[in-house]
Formats: sequence, C-alpha cells, structure tokens
Amino acid sequence: MKMSITDLPDENYSGRKVFVRVDFNVPIDRGKVSEDYRIRRSIPTIEYIAKRGASVILASHLGRPKGRVVRRLSLKPIADRLSNVLKVGDVKFVDDCIGSEVKYIISRLEKGEVLLLENLRFHKDEEANDREFCKELASLADIYVNDAFSTSHRSHASTYGMAQLFDYRLAGLLVQKELEVLSKIRENPFKPFIVIVGGAKIKDKISALKNLINKADRVLIGGGVAYTFLASKGISIGDSTIEEEFLDWAREVLTKNEEKIILPEDHVISQGIEKKGRVRMIPGEIPKGYIGLDIGQRTSARFTHEIMSGEGTIFWNGPMGLFERDEFSHGTIDIARALSLAYWRGANTVIGGGDTMAALRKAEVLETEVDFVSTGGGASLVYLGGDELPGISVLSDK
Ligand code: AMP
Repeated sequence: MKMSITDLPDENYSGRKVFVRVDFNVPIDRGKVSEDYRIRRSIPTIEYIAKRGASVILASHLGRPKGRVVRRLSLKPIADRLSNVLKVGDVKFVDDCIGSEVKYIISRLEKGEVLLLENLRFHKDEEANDREFCKELASLADIYVNDAFSTSHRSHASTYGMAQLFDYRLAGLLVQKELEVLSKIRENPFKPFIVIVGGAKIKDKISALKNLINKADRVLIGGGVAYTFLASKGISIGDSTIEEEFLDWAREVLTKNEEKIILPEDHVISQGIEKKGRVRMIPGEIPKGYIGLDIGQRTSARFTHEIMSGEGTIFWNGPMGLFERDEFSHGTIDIARALSLAYWRGANTVIGGGDTMAALRKAEVLETEVDFVSTGGGASLVYLGGDELPGISVLSDK
C-alpha cells in the first residue's frame, strides 16, 4: 500500500511547502478552460493540504509544446479557473516552473496559499527526466504529492525523477481513489462482471483487454475494435478498418470465450468518414464500399439489456462509434444512459478512458450518475493490464 496525504500527521504540514503534481491537461478554447473535470477532481487534495497550513505548489503539463514556450499552452487560464472554484482563496501564478523568480515567489508564500507553476513541458528536460531539472524542481518543496493519476504511466521528471529526491512521496486523494477503484476491478471485481469495450484501436488496449476478458462474465464489444473481431470470424465488414496483427488473437479469444463475448449484429454505416455519403443502418454483414461507424439499434438494445441486468461491476472503456458526429453517436449515448440506469439500480458502474467523459456529456449523463469516472485514459489501461505505473511505484510505502 502506498502512503497517501491522509497518512501524514497534520503537524507535518504546517509551514511546509508541498509540491503537488496534478494533471491539468484540459481543453482550452480561446483562453478559457472548456472542460474542467480534471481540475475539479484535484480540489479535495489541494484543500486538504492548504487547510493544514502548508503552502501548495501545483505543477502540470498542458499539450505538447516540445520543450518550447508556446503561449496558447500556458497554464494561466487554469489558475483563473481554479481561483473561482477553490474555497481556500485565490491561486497565484508564476510564468516558469524553475529558477530564481519561482524560488522567490515560493519563499513569500503564506500558510495555506496556492501557487500554480507554468507548463512543465516548456522545458524539454521534463519529458527527458533530466537529473538537474529534477533537482531544481525538488528544491522548491519539502513534501512531494502525486495527484496526476493520468500521467503516472510516464517516467518524467515531475512524475518520477524528482519524487525520488523526497523523504515523503505521497498519493493525493484523486490518485488514492483511482487506485482503490481500479485495483478492485483489476483483481477482484464484484460479480457478475460486465466489460464494455469500444474505441478506435485494439493496440492501445491489448493488455487491459487480455486481463479483463479473463476476469469478465460478459464482454460487449463495439466501436472500431469490433471489426477486427468480426473479421476474424469471416464476417464481411466492408471497408471498415481492422488491425491485421490482432486477427489471430481475436479469433482465438472468440473461440475460447464464445459464451461471454457479444459482438455487434447490426451497424450504422456510411461510404466514408469524410464523404457526405448516405448513412444507413443494416443488419449482419457490411457491404464493400461502406464502413461501420456505430453499432446499430439491435446491438444497442442487446447491450442495454445486458447492462441493465448487471448487478455486479460494469466497466466501460471506449465509445461505440464515431460519437463526435451526431449521426454516429446513438450507440454511445444508449450505452451511457444504460450505465447510469444500472447505477441507479445498484450496480457498481465504472468508466475509464479519456473520451468517455465527452461521451457522457453528449448523453447528458452526469458524472455523479455513475459510480466512478477515471481521469486516466492510457494510465488506467496500463494499470488494468496488470503493469505497475512508475509514478505510483515511486511513492512511499505505508
Ligand atoms: P479510444 O481512445 O481508443 O477509446 O478511441 C476513441 C475514438 O474512437 C473516438 O474518437 C471515436 O470517434 C473513435 N471510434 C469509435 N468507434 C469508431 C468507429 N467505428 N470508426 C471510427 N472511429 C471510431
């Protein structure tokens, strides 16, 4: 078990500087934060530390500036948003993450004050996990906290290298909750365990898929990933994209788990993603010249029935189609709504993956209408695949 911020006695916080690695990699539109789920999820940790009389130094990356200062990737708009939602006062901002000005501002911080540093990735040394950069960052604080679950699969300076230089390396409340929920799913989910998988590529999810299919009682497969499974059975999928390298694996998995895996039986198809071709819903095989872009109504009804009868854990990762376009969003919306109904009926409903939050919003399902929405896309899949995350393994043991 890793040590969390609640394991450190309150007196250890008073007057100390606490470095909190958060993930504020959120969409920003014309200088304003347009989706703040990750920011809101970090608030309990910030307030917990601030209320105990420490000053809080927040650090995050945003986008991929590749070691250069890119103005539109500045974290300044996030400091403004945080100031509006935090109960402990305004958030200060400094336009770098290391250096003498940063040190000076930190030395003037009062107990309970919060400072946000500028985008860590404005320095190429962050992703390179450079030793000197790690030392510079570590010199800013007395205690290290990781509350950036979604970047914990990276061995970067702020998620890994600098943490090694602290006596206290603690999990924040968000990280603690993610580990609690995902480890339950990974090791011992409430039964019956239903897994719903969608999204674009098997490649990104292969180790998680292997592990989850083993544990699950039912696996519902939709989205782009379904076509490789259908093709492996010799079903015509028209011009839909498949991943050749996983055809044999998919065939083997289907043979071994015939009873538990349910594939789409009808599809919403079009002549292309770009083309303004006719959109049709068809049962069975997809003709040549067409690609599948959403599950059809019968599949949706079947999946919904399975989800609604679930009384144990239901885990969903990846949309059922190209849901960003309205005409291909119905399957995803149906699944999101079925999941929230299952939640109200008492099932343990967990959603993982970056796009799924956007899918929930499209379906007008609130994040409070399911049990848990993981903030970690790639990180949660790596973790569910059974691998340890560097940003977690580096934390102090209890
Ligand atoms: P992932 O990050 O792997 O969960 O993939 C999410 C992306 O998969 C979303 O942008 C969806 O639009 C896309 N997607 C899901 N199903 C399909 C499909 N049938 N064809 C094309 N893209 C899809």
